[in-house]
Amino acid sequence: MARVKIANAKFIMTMNASRRIITDGTIIFDDDRITHVGKAVDLANAPAETVIDAREMVITPGFVNGHMHISYAHATRGIFPDDLSPRDYLSNVFALQQSMTEEEEHDTSLLGITELLRGGTTTFVDPGSTRFLDACMDAYERAGCRIVVGRQVTDQTNPLNLPVYETGEAVALTGRTIDAYDGGLDGRVHAWAMPFSIDYCSPALLRELKALADSMGTRLTLHHGNGPATVRAFLENHNVRPTIWMEDQGILGDNVVLAHIIGLDGKEVASMARSNTVGIVCPTAAMKMGSGLSQQGMVPEMIRSGVTLGLGTDAGNNANLIETLRSMYLIAILFKDARTDTRMVPAETALEMATIGGATVLGLDDEIGSIEADKKADLVMFDTRRAQWRTLFNPVNSLVYNADGRSVHTVIVNGRTVVEGGEATFVDEWELAQRVQRHGESMLERTNTSFPPRWPVI
Ligand SMILES: [Zn+2]
Repeated sequence: MARVKIANAKFIMTMNASRRIITDGTIIFDDDRITHVGKAVDLANAPAETVIDAREMVITPGFVNGHMHISYAHATRGIFPDDLSPRDYLSNVFALQQSMTEEEEHDTSLLGITELLRGGTTTFVDPGSTRFLDACMDAYERAGCRIVVGRQVTDQTNPLNLPVYETGEAVALTGRTIDAYDGGLDGRVHAWAMPFSIDYCSPALLRELKALADSMGTRLTLHHGNGPATVRAFLENHNVRPTIWMEDQGILGDNVVLAHIIGLDGKEVASMARSNTVGIVCPTAAMKMGSGLSQQGMVPEMIRSGVTLGLGTDAGNNANLIETLRSMYLIAILFKDARTDTRMVPAETALEMATIGGATVLGLDDEIGSIEADKKADLVMFDTRRAQWRTLFNPVNSLVYNADGRSVHTVIVNGRTVVEGGEATFVDEWELAQRVQRHGESMLERTNTSFPPRWPVI
């Protein structure tokens, strides 16, 4: 058994039940699991094979990103003009994605994961966009991340270039995916049911996938960023708003993770609370895509109603920013401005959403999301010897409002160090980035996709 001691941290943000912050603290873990968390002085004599000096470090749990399409975006990141409509964006994205080879998807995923880990995100949900899961499992193993996978399915024709399955086939594919991957890589991989959205899945498919998630003891996630057209369609066809329709159909519940959660009214928030349905908010994507989160988002009401929320980013070519810390910052400031009220979404709430809240949404709060004995050793060490961290009095405010991933020094997942001194330990990042650049150029050429910059490039 390899015992590691992280000694003399300036602050340990435990995120335990009492949200205790330990000054001059020490963490000890054996292999993948934390055994001791406390004051350095009390653990000074505890022996360990490896001692990591954490002076001037702030240590947090690994961050949780509850909605992050990992497999396709990095290869063509930044190509889309920012005035592209969400529908045009998505139809291009999925056409490009469908053209990817196994090798391209593997390398692109690994580059995305490298960026996530370097920014302190240790666990994320890929909402079913990965096509070659077997190949990508190699990337997850190599990077050491914790991931929720699945197969994004639809059974309705759609304008987004999403593949359409026959209903029974979509259910069978989901069942096979959960069977094959849930619990993989020493429990670091989980697998869920992942219907794309209520717009492009039949009621029968949604009901069957919910029943499947129930019977297999896993979760279901779908896109629930309901724009005005979706709300209008449900009011016209069913005489109720989308979330209430889902509740009526038996598709909500404590194992259902609604992503984006925009366009809800107060009754729909009450429906989420009543059914213990949980949610992931993606402020970076919403703001860049003009989704109306600041105008229509009910995040303060959801928090007040007791709905458990986590944070996501969406993909690297619509949100572009995939750092969970940026989502944490945005969620803390967005509603202060939208409601002209500084009491909206305090820094502490934002940090909870990025850690223990997100872990709870994923159903993993017994294992991750806080720094406590018996939990997994998923840890982020921030180097506070940088201007962005100084001066330092209140570590919550400093972390949420003035730090970001650039000060991440060390990242440990499941007891393994995957980032050290700010660099990934498992890959030659520049060599990988050059390979993914070549993949992207080839994909654009093969699919005849071109979005030249607005300014002349000579
Ligand atoms: Zn998405």
